[in-house]
Amino acid sequence: MCPESVEYDCNVPPYRFSVSDLDYDAIVRIMPPVVRIQNLTKHYFLESVTVRALRGVSLTVEQGEFVALMGPSGSGKSTLLNLLGCLDRPTSGAYVLGDDDVSRMDDDRLSEVRSRYLGFIFQSYNLLPQYTVVENIEIPLLYQGCRLNEKSRQRCIQRADLVGLGDRLEHRPMQLSGGQQQRGAIARALVNDPHLILADEPTGNLDSKTSDEIMQMLIRLNAAGKTIIMVTHENDIAAWAKRVIRMRDGVIEIDEPNQQPRIAQGVSSAFVSALNSLMSEAVR
Ligand code: ADP
Repeated sequence: MCPESVEYDCNVPPYRFSVSDLDYDAIVRIMPPVVRIQNLTKHYFLESVTVRALRGVSLTVEQGEFVALMGPSGSGKSTLLNLLGCLDRPTSGAYVLGDDDVSRMDDDRLSEVRSRYLGFIFQSYNLLPQYTVVENIEIPLLYQGCRLNEKSRQRCIQRADLVGLGDRLEHRPMQLSGGQQQRGAIARALVNDPHLILADEPTGNLDSKTSDEIMQMLIRLNAAGKTIIMVTHENDIAAWAKRVIRMRDGVIEIDEPNQQPRIAQGVSSAFVSALNSLMSEAVR
């Protein structure tokens, strides 16, 4: 968590670049990659056994990519996602997130990077049951040390509206369907306008119709310029991504573009402009 003495103003953008309403292709050309990983390893030491979960992974993800990370159980997907999410440190190798070499940061700095630059979406939503939808969306702002006030509340309400939960603000997670909970989690992931969204099996607990709805929402976020890396074991879900990386035994086995990603129905320009206007509000 950020040091308690540090207070951030929620209305100051946490990142050094925004895709807002500018020429997106031009931005991609001038921006550094969101993720640069070089020869990353992660070893777990269990008594006398060393588990080599990652055995030298190199990877670059540009702004605006939508990557599906696949592979059999035990291939190292979660380990890589944890490192990408600054939830753990590598044994060796470099990880540069935006401009920051995060591979050597201490826990406090990692925590700050997490809360300011990353958005997380989990299979089990991870909404706090005692809080309402809007309070759950506020949580990353609290982790940033933001002062919660009317302006930050409005910011959360706008994200809730964006994912179609504007009429569920005071509901608690138990009072929502799985799809609605996941939409709440997506709104929460957006509240700090993250550089990078990390999704871990985001549709793993949902039926196929609701899964499609959630994937269409992720597609819209990506169409609005958000960079997404998503772990999935389902080909149907990976089919939405623009790039598919397959891991095996702690290394990347295949890394290829998805020539024909599934197309979201009605990726409305209204949604993209609504999201862009929220993001550009943050930089005004
Ligand atoms: P996946 O997500 O692809 O199923 P993981 O990244 O969870 O793979 O695991 C990769 C390897 O690392 C596996 O052999 C797993 O048993 C091991 N592993 C993962 N986490 C730990 C841990 N905390 N301690 C020891 N071994 C671990």
